[in-house]
Amino acid sequence: MVDDDIAARGVGDPRVLAAMRAVPRERFVPPALAELAYADRPLPIGEGQTISQPYVVAWMVEALELAPTDRVLEIGTGSGYAAAVLAQLTPHVWSIERVPALAARARANLAAADVTTVQVIEGDGTLGLPALAPFDAIVLTAAGPAVPPALSAQLADGGRLVAPVGVQDGPQELVRLRRAGARLELEALGAVQFVPLIGAQGFAPR
Ligand code: SAH
Repeated sequence: MVDDDIAARGVGDPRVLAAMRAVPRERFVPPALAELAYADRPLPIGEGQTISQPYVVAWMVEALELAPTDRVLEIGTGSGYAAAVLAQLTPHVWSIERVPALAARARANLAAADVTTVQVIEGDGTLGLPALAPFDAIVLTAAGPAVPPALSAQLADGGRLVAPVGVQDGPQELVRLRRAGARLELEALGAVQFVPLIGAQGFAPR
């Protein structure tokens, strides 16, 4: 999967490819779907949510340009899979999930995959974790109408934020913000499709 679906499609950072090889994705999908764990596609994980497509996880993680000392905040723990990939690149990972049942399962999945460094927090990730800010990297795995201002405010100088932004169940774009002092530089990385970011600085629940 890593050679055919991820490296061949342009993810070149060897540390990211090694991180993708190190994480057993079958530990993060429902047991009934285990045989699809290494297909390059999103899969349902319950509560109307999905584990992201592996290629998209690798692309987003590469876009974060992580150094081994970086402090990383993920919004949308879901299965815990992307958090486990992040944990291969730095020991400082916090991940926020709004659905308590998913947060509990993600903790169990991470433990089963021997990932012990990720802190899973239940709550509204659109507000970030002000008490632990600033973060060198912030990644959202659910799409909001815009990047939550609370999150860009928690980005360290030189920090990177990668997020899908757009219409609920419609066109979305992966964007990267980079903080340069008081300035935020914005880059568009490409088209994506994510579940909605629901919260105070996201979409309203339906
Ligand atoms: N990174 C996950 C992908 C999960 S899908 C994985 O690798 O499996 C996105 C997740 O974002 C869902 O679990 C959804 O419940 C969660 N989510 C949506 N809005 C959120 C918010 N405001 N705060 C935290 N989590 C949120």
